[in-house]
Amino acid sequence: MDIQERVREVQRRLARAAEAAGRAPAEITLCAATKTQDCAAVRAAVAAGISVCGENRVQELAAHLEEGAYAGAEVHFIGRLQTNKVNKVVGRAALIHSVDSLRLLQTVESQAARLGVRQDILLEINIGREDSKGGIDPGRTEEMARAAAGMEHIRLRGLMAIPPISAVPGGSRHFFAEMYQLFVDIRTKMSDNQYIDCLSMGMSGDFEDAIAEGATLVRVGTALFGPRPPVRTAQP
Ligand SMILES: *Cc1c(COP(=O)(O)O)cnc(C)c1O
Repeated sequence: MDIQERVREVQRRLARAAEAAGRAPAEITLCAATKTQDCAAVRAAVAAGISVCGENRVQELAAHLEEGAYAGAEVHFIGRLQTNKVNKVVGRAALIHSVDSLRLLQTVESQAARLGVRQDILLEINIGREDSKGGIDPGRTEEMARAAAGMEHIRLRGLMAIPPISAVPGGSRHFFAEMYQLFVDIRTKMSDNQYIDCLSMGMSGDFEDAIAEGATLVRVGTALFGPRPPVRTAQP
């Protein structure tokens, strides 16, 4: 299958899942997770109908931007973000999905203020409460949402999660349901909530379950681009 066929196939799966849940397919954004993909692959995905790309790595974001690979598509930042790289992402990514600490939130706020922009963000929630993963403890969601809402150069758009890898089909579904509850909860509690419209969850293996539980954005890599090369680790 080439990229065009894969994009169409994922769009079909997305539409089927939405309809099965009684939702309009247009309510759900397909974000292509472009990590490890070169500019040609990103360009081909955009030409095939992808309108949002999600980058994991600051370096790849910079390279793809420099080459004009997005060709009019929106770019989001979905990877782990270190505070010392915030200045390479703020003002470039239309949405940062992975804000997972107060310190990172404050750094994004400072950089956005310096640039005179308002940065859209999601709070990343560690919904499986895994020690190995980034993300805010679910119990601190409201506190962090209030902190974000109080910052002049930040616009809180919603929540993101990467649930634990499940060995069985449907195994992530209860995490997605919990995320939806948190999302509805902050939308209800925040007074200035008209921009809280994004619940980012679901990847190649489980995005239908995420849509069934209320995702408004799914981040899909492998199902669009094929398997990624193994990650090279630095030599000791
Ligand atoms: C890689 C990645 C994805 C996509 O994963 P696939 O299983 O390849 O679809 C989604 N979200 C994040 C944060 C990722 O790093």
